[in-house]
Amino acid sequence: MAFKPANNIQDLQYFGEFGGVNPSISDSSTYTFLSAKTMFDTFEGNADGCYLYSRHSSPSNLYLGEALAAMEGTETANVTASGMGAITAVLLQLCGAGDHVISSRTIYGGTYAFLKNFTPRFNIETSFVDITNLDLVETSITKNTKVIFCESVSNPLLEVADIKGLTRIAKEHNLKLVVDNTFSPLSISPAKLGADIVVHSLTKFINGASDTVAGVICGTQEFINDLRNVNDGACMLLGSTMDSFRSASVLKNLRTLHVRMQQHSKNALYLAVKFEADGLKTVYPGLKSHPSHQLFKSMMNHQYGFGGMLTIDVGSIEKANQLMELMQNENLGYLAVSLGFYKTLFSAPGTSTSSEIPEEEQEQMGLSDGLIRFSVGLDADIERTYQMMCRCMEKLNVFEKEVPSI
Ligand SMILES: *Cc1c(COP(=O)(O)O)cnc(C)c1O
Repeated sequence: MAFKPANNIQDLQYFGEFGGVNPSISDSSTYTFLSAKTMFDTFEGNADGCYLYSRHSSPSNLYLGEALAAMEGTETANVTASGMGAITAVLLQLCGAGDHVISSRTIYGGTYAFLKNFTPRFNIETSFVDITNLDLVETSITKNTKVIFCESVSNPLLEVADIKGLTRIAKEHNLKLVVDNTFSPLSISPAKLGADIVVHSLTKFINGASDTVAGVICGTQEFINDLRNVNDGACMLLGSTMDSFRSASVLKNLRTLHVRMQQHSKNALYLAVKFEADGLKTVYPGLKSHPSHQLFKSMMNHQYGFGGMLTIDVGSIEKANQLMELMQNENLGYLAVSLGFYKTLFSAPGTSTSSEIPEEEQEQMGLSDGLIRFSVGLDADIERTYQMMCRCMEKLNVFEKEVPSI
């Protein structure tokens, strides 16, 4: 039977203290005990349903975690204060001194910087590879490799990872496959395709309101218990804990995610098809011209579409900047990083979210100067948006082929 992630969210029922339709928010950092023995047992993790201190867990954080686990089809989940709080905790839980990571080379700039510049301080080394080349992934494995890390749809180039293929390699070599699914919630369910651990920046589509940063780690009960272990758990000890008020707020937004993703995808597909027909170099997984279009189709939960992210290449950073400023002045969206907002957001990744990646490497991976990344909004009338964007592009001669300079 097809996996129905939104049904799994909808079917959960949490009532408030007085029968409220939303769960009560746990507005406490610490919890009282009637007996000292129960306090000890709770500290040791042996008293189910008891709370001790809100960095360990809180009712509000558990509600949100369970809803996200239901969405991803994992046993359970742990929410964190940011996406980076989730990613760093997972990698440091799985890897220690001497270990090796294989990572996609086109990933979020913060994750790239962490693996490239930070974890070498702990003698954890990373090979950055073209994740779409499974042979290369396999030949990069060393006796010290512990983790394969990728994004299901990569930032900002929208490369698509073959999660089943990567799962097969990971299983064969006894590695953990960790997938960042921030760009494709509901559309792709990495755990259902075999991934061991799924992480998200909730900051983006899942919360969808651009009012907070938040993250989650979805996995087995055993792995989440390890992360929460008071003696050596990365979530517990690094302390990237979400606040209960935020958990409650993200949970409420999560309930409309399926409706929003459908609209983001519908609008992005509309624009991508039009831009491509206009002769713009357009990348969107929903286009037949995308090298992994068929792969995405084979993995997706169809009703949520190909996601809200697309890129166009307008030739130069100057033109990209002019176009983004003009579109913002026309109220078509905002010149801003991040994604998943009701308004369209656009940025030039080379000089913003991927600026951690050295220029030379950006070039190698095909991250060109004139690239504009769009997080397409929930526009009610995308045809009007397209017409207005076209007028901006015509004004700046974006459709005209660049004359090569001598
Ligand atoms: C934004 C983002 C992150 C980091 O999340 P924060 O919530 O900002 O810490 C990680 N991965 C991807 C793909 C992202 O887009």
